Amino acid sequence: MTDIIQLLPDNIANQIAAGEVIQRPASAVKELLENAVDAGATQVRLVINDAGKALVQVTDNGKGMSGTDARMAFERHATSKIRQIEDLFRIKTMGFRGEALASVAAVAQVEMKTRREADELGTYIEIENSAVVRQEACACPVGTTISMKNLFFNVPARRNFLKSNAAELRHIMDEFIRVAMAFPDIFFSLTSNGQEVFHLETGSLKQRIVQILGNNYNAKLVSVQEQTDYMNIHGFVGKPETARKTRGDQYFFVNSRFIKSAYLNHAVNAAFEEMIPKDSFPGYVLFIDLDPSQVDINVHPTKQEIKFEDEKIIYAFVQAAVKHALAQFSIAPSLDFSLNADIQQLDAVSKPFTTDKKDAVASSNLYQAFTQKNQAHFIERTKPDSQEKTELKHWKSFFEAPNPAPEATDKPMTIPGLQARKSGLELIPDTPLLQLHNTYIIASTNSGFILVHQQLAHERILYDRYSVAAHGQQMATQKSLFPVTLELPAADAALLTDLLADLHSIGYQVEPFGNNSFVIQGIPADITPGNEKHAIELLIEQFKHFSNDIKFSRREKLVRCMARQQAIKAGQQLSQKEMLTLVEELFDCGSPNVTPTGSPTYLEFKEDYLDRMFGK
Ligand code: ADP
Ligand code: MG
Repeated sequence: MTDIIQLLPDNIANQIAAGEVIQRPASAVKELLENAVDAGATQVRLVINDAGKALVQVTDNGKGMSGTDARMAFERHATSKIRQIEDLFRIKTMGFRGEALASVAAVAQVEMKTRREADELGTYIEIENSAVVRQEACACPVGTTISMKNLFFNVPARRNFLKSNAAELRHIMDEFIRVAMAFPDIFFSLTSNGQEVFHLETGSLKQRIVQILGNNYNAKLVSVQEQTDYMNIHGFVGKPETARKTRGDQYFFVNSRFIKSAYLNHAVNAAFEEMIPKDSFPGYVLFIDLDPSQVDINVHPTKQEIKFEDEKIIYAFVQAAVKHALAQFSIAPSLDFSLNADIQQLDAVSKPFTTDKKDAVASSNLYQAFTQKNQAHFIERTKPDSQEKTELKHWKSFFEAPNPAPEATDKPMTIPGLQARKSGLELIPDTPLLQLHNTYIIASTNSGFILVHQQLAHERILYDRYSVAAHGQQMATQKSLFPVTLELPAADAALLTDLLADLHSIGYQVEPFGNNSFVIQGIPADITPGNEKHAIELLIEQFKHFSNDIKFSRREKLVRCMARQQAIKAGQQLSQKEMLTLVEELFDCGSPNVTPTGSPTYLEFKEDYLDRMFGK
């Protein structure tokens, strides 16, 4: 018998490793932008064609590479940023794993031009399937241009896995924004299919935030700034009135690296407690800087998750810093008549900020701990350690519980023993309907009674109505008397642009207004006017939850989101007439017994079954 184990050839090993680092065009964008920043560039230009599927190109004016380095850069584990394991805990650069360029070169055709200031001529290099196919001297400006073409040209299975251009472009914008936000003193531009989407001149962090997130943040940012020996925090939180129904504008950076942390996010939200309605999210752009030895950034291949040496301190610090900033802001509340009504009613806004309250904030242990320099480690432990730990864990798991996202399941469309029988079930005329707990409707039928869940039933009705509309028969629109403008972050604006035609077919009249803003000119005739803006924002957010689902067309997703969003909710009191209409409309549906996602809409209790139950 011969032995069977072989070493994989480099190009295959690289392709496998690339799976972790380069999942989509946006991952390459992130790596290339970070390399440009690490190279000390002051100008970074990103060019995208075909949502990065055809081309991702980054040009920087950084320090460039020598001819040998240019070749070396594409080897796996080739990096100039660390030399020994201890260096991992002193990292000041964005990259350090030395695998990004190797991964890119394994799954795309790569061209690079690079020159150092000291060299007269630069290097041109061409790579395919991890092998250098051409290298020559060339004339080029100082810095580096890397072009990545035809991503996954040699891994068709992964190419097919990529999403629509709109979706991939959104991912790219997200990554671009995350890097650009962290370095306001670097110029960044993003050009997609020949059109410049972002042109970010250098300036202050505040200017960068407004450039990226939109003018509606102008004059509505509260500065956060605390310094201790252990860590610093700086950045901005949006004033309470800028809180939105979507989680979009939340950015945390640790040592300039964008990170995702439900835990820290919770710390900020907690600081806003009582100042914003429960279901809305404050915007923030916050930077935490601390000794690199206090964080492990090497727990995730794309480095978006990190581990803190002491999470609790960071949590408390972030919360205290944001609270402090907000307290200062409420001492002099700005009279802003555009304040949203649900916010106005909150105590924190409607009641004057009393001296008592001010004192309470100022005398809290945390506040003192963090406003006195050198005091960060003296956060008083008010509870035994173990108890505190479980509490924190609880916070975490509480927060990580996913929102009930619109869920698409493969559940069968019928429920055992309860077939849709449009003709079979008949309501007994002139019999009053009964509403239970403002959620269930009891209606007598020719063969017993049914228990209808009002929200689920309405979801089915609306789904059918919107589906018909989406497939040709346009829904009626009511023109808005006061058209509402809506300003969105670039990524959301791209998504909404993509949805405009479909929204129109279901009765929304939304028009682009330039600069990522839109005007809502009309809404579906059967929707109560007044919260158009919220409705669209919510729709975008729900749609995003769906965006990974390839089973459904865009239209189908939209229809499902709309039905769910507009359905009467459980807990709402209904009149006799409303109940009757609801039940009748339900039975006009093709499959009245289930929602589009497969939940039952009603349960039927037949007379003979009831008789049997009572032994009759
Ligand atoms: P890492 O960034 O983790 O070191 P990469 O694969 O991204 O690994 O890059 C490998 C090396 O190539 C870097 O360490 C750096 O020395 C060099 N390099 C990559 N991109 C650039 C660039 N835009 N300008 C100058 N040098 C670069
Ligand atoms: Mg890198």
